[in-house]
Amino acid sequence: MNPEFSRLERAILLAKGLSEEQLAQLTEIGVGSRADFSLIGNVVTLLELMPDLDPAVAVRVLEWAVPTSVAAADTNANPAVHVAPPPTIVVESADVVHCANCHAKQPKDYTPGDLCINCGRQAEPIEQCFWCGSSGPGKRCRNCGAQFVPTSLLPLAMLLRRDGLSKDDIPRRIAEASDEEKEQLWGRVRRARM
Ligand SMILES: [Zn+2]
Ligand SMILES: [Zn+2]
Repeated sequence: MNPEFSRLERAILLAKGLSEEQLAQLTEIGVGSRADFSLIGNVVTLLELMPDLDPAVAVRVLEWAVPTSVAAADTNANPAVHVAPPPTIVVESADVVHCANCHAKQPKDYTPGDLCINCGRQAEPIEQCFWCGSSGPGKRCRNCGAQFVPTSLLPLAMLLRRDGLSKDDIPRRIAEASDEEKEQLWGRVRRARM
């Protein structure tokens, strides 16, 4: 017998952007409660199980179901949750970081993960690692060192990973791909879904 989501869980998942078909698909693979998502653990695994899922929806679902899978984006909202301070990372270049929310310039000693000095929100968006599934702010994954690709392009990065491209080659390939090449890759992602 397949597990069933409760009425509230269904309502929340629909609100996160899942379709009825995708809910049924989840039930089919054995996910029937919020707790089951913790076994999936991260956005990349969820996208592997459900290749037709919009990466942004996958992120929202996992943020709700497994808050620890996505580094706490708004620590202010829930002060009870203690978030370990990020390891200090030496910023290689003199790149100036501007807040993704209010565009305020961040101080020189800014390290990825710091909150914005102006608005107090996470200065950089939380990215998902296409390689190991970890998430965090900054340009690179703290867990495996892979360079992040935009969330909307995660399915392309995962496709190239299945093709056997290396961790370092994939972000470069995606950054250098023309619109036409990207379209071809999306075509392959869509065919893989059928
Ligand atoms: Zn800000
Ligand atoms: Zn990684």
